[in-house]
Amino acid sequence: MAKYVFVTGGVLSSVGKGIITSSVGKMLQTRGAKVTAIKIDPYVNVDAGTMNPYMHGEVYVTDDGGETDLDLGWYERFLDLSLTIDNNVTTGMVFQAVIEKERRGDYLGRCVQIVPHVTDEIKQRIRKVAKKSGADVVLTECGGTVGDIEGLPFLEAIRQMRLEEGYENTLYIHIALVPILDVTGEMKTKPLQHSVNELRRIGIQPDTIVARSRKMIDAEARRKIALFGTIPENAVFCSYNVPSVYKVPLVLDDQGMGEFIRKRLKLAGQNPKWDSWKSFVDAVLNPHHEIRIVLVGKYAGLVDSYVSMNEAFRHAGAKFQTKVDVDFVEAEKYEKSPEKLAELGNFDGIFVPYGFGPRGAEGKISAIQYARENDLPFLGICYGFQLAVVEFARNVCGLEDANSTEISSSTSVPVIDLMPEQQDVEQKGATMRLGAHKILVAKDTLAYSLYQSAEIFERHRHRFEVNPVHRPIMEKKGLVFSGRSADGKRMEILELPENFFFLASQFHGEFKSRPTKPDPEYFGFVRACLKRKTSGNHKGRRTERK
Ligand code: GLN
Repeated sequence: MAKYVFVTGGVLSSVGKGIITSSVGKMLQTRGAKVTAIKIDPYVNVDAGTMNPYMHGEVYVTDDGGETDLDLGWYERFLDLSLTIDNNVTTGMVFQAVIEKERRGDYLGRCVQIVPHVTDEIKQRIRKVAKKSGADVVLTECGGTVGDIEGLPFLEAIRQMRLEEGYENTLYIHIALVPILDVTGEMKTKPLQHSVNELRRIGIQPDTIVARSRKMIDAEARRKIALFGTIPENAVFCSYNVPSVYKVPLVLDDQGMGEFIRKRLKLAGQNPKWDSWKSFVDAVLNPHHEIRIVLVGKYAGLVDSYVSMNEAFRHAGAKFQTKVDVDFVEAEKYEKSPEKLAELGNFDGIFVPYGFGPRGAEGKISAIQYARENDLPFLGICYGFQLAVVEFARNVCGLEDANSTEISSSTSVPVIDLMPEQQDVEQKGATMRLGAHKILVAKDTLAYSLYQSAEIFERHRHRFEVNPVHRPIMEKKGLVFSGRSADGKRMEILELPENFFFLASQFHGEFKSRPTKPDPEYFGFVRACLKRKTSGNHKGRRTERK
């Protein structure tokens, strides 16, 4: 039978609940427990797929094609799990299911209410994950802040779960900000006290409280949090600012949080194994080298838009004790001022990430052209892959009008076009080509040398693809499609053998990158950037591979 850990937040959002939830999972996992995690998102969207990454951060894609909240990415990275769409529960999903049941007549004769019908649906979803995963501990993080109107049905559901599952099988963790006043340096616990009061008003008494603060809380703050939170002082922990989020589980474990929860949930004891995690954190915090790459994108204003990509660079960098500095540049800049393209030469590599729509596309294409012509290491992901095809068609194959129909629907050379099965799609939600699909990797290619496998599974999120009509001319001119879908029809990886490192993929390798298991494409790119930087010059990949 699974044990349930519920995580709530107070005072304000964005205090790192996702990281702390992942860290709690990590502390239990290193002690031998099988864990899984659920993110509750109280918004009415059915999933994160229709939200703008600029407002909400990246849409994280699971193996089964779920378009989920980016916190699932943190759970997967910290816990090395492959989660499913079921691990993300939204108000939209819950209400959709309840309303469908009502229409079907499942509640016939009854008045359908938030309690018990909506709360039952929520509990049933949490228990389903417990059952399907076979986990010893299911962590459930409630998005938002205690007191939000949207969050109430979820908090009511988790309140009921204590009654139904029993005290020893449930644990409530409340995380809240403890601000420090600039002038006096005082740690103020009053906002946290209020959020605990709000939680209690709903009927939940936290078992442990995590103060999120700039510095380690002092004895006085701890005493107050314990007193007003009605918990012992040894149940108060502090998540203070650390130079890397991957340090958070170590910091909390040092304070005894892992043991506290293990004992409280009566889980079998085991000495925690931190070795590989610690050496990863050490490589991140004590790099011997540094490379600078440029991300030419369009959601550059919000770091969370590219969080998985950033982390994939970090994981790859750690393998080489290398800090990967990622500079964000708005692609539109190169459309307005093409002379600025020359600044790309100051970087060790050029990266063009995922994207949608025409804004900034021409700027990205120019950046790709710069990378190809100046033989700078280049990695393109999804839109970056498609735009690399457009660039090659235009500038190498001489197909001047080449374009993606996503950018220009009237182009006479649609090298990137809507996938046939997308032609009649009208609904926007969950209708892209999503999730993990099999890819066949051709032997004797850069891709094969990176993946060391003829068959890989990678996650997708796109509507457009390489148009097979124009493939032969591009191949003739030297573009190698080194990865294809299982039926051979869909192009998945491209590379330019004449360049030092020029690789792009239709899929998103970053979603499967893990701290100690970096994704092969990011790994190869980081290695190429580092080699180029440390060796000064290079004579092309073929020579260098010998
Ligand atoms: N906009 C492109 C498509 O829909 C690329 C998507 C992406 O980069 N994830 O195919």
